[in-house]
Amino acid sequence: METVTRFAPSPTGYLHLGHAYSALINFQRAHSAQGRFLLRIEDIDQGRCKPEYEAAINEDLTWLGLAWEKPVLRQSDRMAIYEANLTYLHERGLVYRCFKTRKDIEQAMSAPHETTTAAFRSGPLTALEERDNLVDGRPYAWRLSLTEAEATLGATFSTLVYLEDTAEGLVKQLAEAQRFGDVVLGRKDNGTSYHLSSVVDDAAQGITHIIRGRDLCEAAGLQALLHQLLGLKPPVYKHHNLILDETGKRLSKRDKAVTLRAMRQRGLTPDDVKGLMP
Ligand code: GLU
Repeated sequence: METVTRFAPSPTGYLHLGHAYSALINFQRAHSAQGRFLLRIEDIDQGRCKPEYEAAINEDLTWLGLAWEKPVLRQSDRMAIYEANLTYLHERGLVYRCFKTRKDIEQAMSAPHETTTAAFRSGPLTALEERDNLVDGRPYAWRLSLTEAEATLGATFSTLVYLEDTAEGLVKQLAEAQRFGDVVLGRKDNGTSYHLSSVVDDAAQGITHIIRGRDLCEAAGLQALLHQLLGLKPPVYKHHNLILDETGKRLSKRDKAVTLRAMRQRGLTPDDVKGLMP
């Protein structure tokens, strides 16, 4: 099977050394397998994404020596597709409308019978309550119903696995997704979410290997579960170490000094930047 990898940044800031590391690993993996490397612009959060950051992504990755297939998929062009996938899940009872505010949920989570670490789980309102809320124009999010997901996948739910690409060829369980609780798949503000759009697009683009930082380790189980619920085959996941700053914190888009453009402006070459990677 042909290897297809991707780098999927959100244009909410300039790329830093950590992004460059991730992009390069994906590029090299595709290259060494004579496969394909794709760039995807994850710009569902239109309030935070900026065209100048998107332009900078193209410029910085090109400067680093990376090349990718055109045209580049932009998530903001695909909102109707994410909506269709939510409809598919809704028709199967796998998502429900949640009218709760963040405060409602915090209160529910700190109720005495809940443990503080338990992820939020709930379920749909009755048809009558739901209708009243809709008539009142109350905003809602679409949440995954873990209870229905378990029922849909049946007794196999707790034993379903996905592949983690490590030296040991680790196999992980989809049931790990439970720690997310009934995660929001359709946000109140824009109707979709990172998890849903990312899974839909990874499948649509035929991504075979998802290689990204360890901070997304836990998301892999949930995303593999979503693939399964949408009738799609999960890709292989692999997680790389994060590049940390001198205080041991992971780099963030706010760390201006380690953005690729700041390093370039200081006169560093692409090879100098690669030399800073583990
Ligand atoms: N847009 C996400 C980010 O920048 C992508 C995460 C992923 O690779 O799935 O963190």
